[in-house]
Amino acid sequence: MLSEKQNAPAEQRTLKGDRSPTVKHCAFPAGKASSIEYELIRSRRRTLAIQIKPDGSVLVRAPYSTPAQRIEAFINERRDWILRTREGVLKKARKAEAAGPVLTEAELQELHRQAREQIPGRVALYAKKAGVTYGRITIRSQRTRWGSCSSKGNLNFNCLLMLAPPMVLDSVVAHELCHRKEMNHSPKFYAEVRRLFPEYDKWHGWLKKNGSALLARLPE
Ligand SMILES: [Zn+2]
Repeated sequence: MLSEKQNAPAEQRTLKGDRSPTVKHCAFPAGKASSIEYELIRSRRRTLAIQIKPDGSVLVRAPYSTPAQRIEAFINERRDWILRTREGVLKKARKAEAAGPVLTEAELQELHRQAREQIPGRVALYAKKAGVTYGRITIRSQRTRWGSCSSKGNLNFNCLLMLAPPMVLDSVVAHELCHRKEMNHSPKFYAEVRRLFPEYDKWHGWLKKNGSALLARLPE
């Protein structure tokens, strides 16, 4: 949401009891080839605001008294922000669609169960190969990481790895276990990882390309 003022009145309050007439408009910026189509909702609010909806459409909220010209100028001034934000929203939607629907609580629990069943064996195998020890193994459903290794050797793995090809899980296991030797991401660390798991770049590449789509399947 982009507002004229930081302290714009809360949406709920301004929209309450409004007739909220909705009209489709088009902003034609001077000297720009393309146009921005937007939905305009006028209400008793005091400021102008632009919102990009999850489907990529543009919603503009304006006070009853603001002239159309002022609204068009407001949109045109923020043209770059609108296009950039809309592109981001649509990209996210396309990725989420490609990955599949949001997981239900039951599906998520099933992934946790599979992870608890499968991951300890892979960890034991690669730890033996690498000649390292480790502590507790915890399965999580995090939005930000696939695995982690604490200084004490406790390991975390994301249950969404169960939705990726099995070699992807192995690449994450190898990565985290190599932190038992090198607590950093130095060239020396990656040399260890590739020695332990020679196909690391290939499967880590898979995760880099497809990982965000998997993460998008986590419920809010
Ligand atoms: Zn790391």
